[in-house]
Amino acid sequence: MDNGQLLIGDKWQDAASGARLTTVDPATGRPLATVADAGPEDVDAAVAAARDALRDPRWARITPAARARLLWRVAELLERDASAFAELETRDQGQPLPVARAVSVAGAAEHFRYYAGWVTKIDGRVPAHSVPDALNYTRRVPVGVCGLITPWNFPLLIAAWKLAPALACGNTVVLKPAEQTPLTALRLARLFDEAGFPPGVVNVLTGGPDAGRALVRHAGVDKLSFTGSTEVGRDIVRAAGGNLARLSLELGGKAASVVAADADLDVAVPANLRSGIANSGQVCAASSRFYVARPLYDEFTERLADAAAAVRLGSGLDERTQMGPLVGEEHLARVDGFVRGASAEGATVLTGGRRAGGELAAGSFYPPTIVADARDDMRIAREEVFGPVLTVMPYDDVDEVAARVNDSEYGLAAAVWTRDLSLAHRLADRIDAGCVRVNIVGSQDPAVPWGGMKDSGWGREMGAEAIDEYTEVKSVWIGLQ
Ligand code: NAD
Repeated sequence: MDNGQLLIGDKWQDAASGARLTTVDPATGRPLATVADAGPEDVDAAVAAARDALRDPRWARITPAARARLLWRVAELLERDASAFAELETRDQGQPLPVARAVSVAGAAEHFRYYAGWVTKIDGRVPAHSVPDALNYTRRVPVGVCGLITPWNFPLLIAAWKLAPALACGNTVVLKPAEQTPLTALRLARLFDEAGFPPGVVNVLTGGPDAGRALVRHAGVDKLSFTGSTEVGRDIVRAAGGNLARLSLELGGKAASVVAADADLDVAVPANLRSGIANSGQVCAASSRFYVARPLYDEFTERLADAAAAVRLGSGLDERTQMGPLVGEEHLARVDGFVRGASAEGATVLTGGRRAGGELAAGSFYPPTIVADARDDMRIAREEVFGPVLTVMPYDDVDEVAARVNDSEYGLAAAVWTRDLSLAHRLADRIDAGCVRVNIVGSQDPAVPWGGMKDSGWGREMGAEAIDEYTEVKSVWIGLQ
């Protein structure tokens, strides 16, 4: 892999300071590549390039149909290079290749296609007003320069969640991928030029939190879209507030899964395991606290622990692998700390609970971990672990479980497993979360809005909702003398 540079306007360049970051393959612990570590001067240059591109007639005056074709072309190029993108994502992030292919690469392409379809449908309306002899109409116009800051769990996919609607709406962007996993964003950046986007419409700055902070504070940024932790989200609200930048925040979660007394365990056990360990549990909507109807609790927990113990860990490049490594050593230590803390508080670790050894010792491998005998007030049941750690607790009735699910600062996603239609709807109604899934794991689609309630964020990505997030409404009055 080439060593990565920053894309600013039409130039690939090193950071002004010359600083570089190293990214590590989490399956081997070995360095994979180095990339430029952007600083404030690079942020200034990238925002200026994005501002210029906003006024460039090649972008500002492009027809919607032509803009739609550019987005569609990115989807085609992603599919052309799908194998290379999937392998790069697996090496950099750790996810198994089938996940990289189906979720990350194909998913990213679908976002560009979906929003290519929207470009020609972004229109205004003619309100039925009461001002005599006047016409009013509204238009949706781009917000301007968008700063897009992404996390390390699905680097390519989450970049596409933001880039596709931002560009569909006619904005220009500065993308800052996470420092742990910058490589697919750099490769994606090359496709915009190839697709025919004018220079400066897409700028990519690799770098760490300091680059993110400089982007957030920059007065030339009109809108910020951030996906990451709630803690950093709060910092961003404070830092961006002075500039009145528009904010979209997709933050942390602590998704609950309710397994009702009538659930079919042959379905619910494997499905709940998958929902807890997909991408090694590094999914914002991963189920991590499981409320199981008391009559099923012992059997569910035992079967879940058996299934978890049978999961095959390994390098994401090995097609037999069911679960890859965590993203890196620092994160592994954090996940392990949660499990040790739970044991110290009196919970029981039924399986997993320590890093994998043997052939996997050099990588950041942590096996699926099932924790029983936990209480709602334990850290493991309240805070986001972001690892393959599933905490199982019994419940007795519906009112009680709804209250316990909602007793969380987060409200991103929840799941319900039942064959009782009325119970499914009652819980879907009562659970405070941006997404409630009934008898289904991990479903997501570019057409369906995604985002959290409470401390899980502000605004929605995907669907028609993202068009609102990346446009401003302009109202025009015409006097009819
Ligand atoms: P993080 O908050 O540590 O970092 C995210 C990004 O923000 C990175 O690019 C980082 O460099 C940058 N950053 C860090 N500090 C910053 C600051 N002060 N100002 C500006 N930028 C800053 O998150 P992470 O560890 O990369 O990702 C995991 C988190 O992301 C989890 O909490 C997870 O739930 C969340 N997430 C949420 C969603 C969602 O849709 N709600 C999706 C994926 C991940």
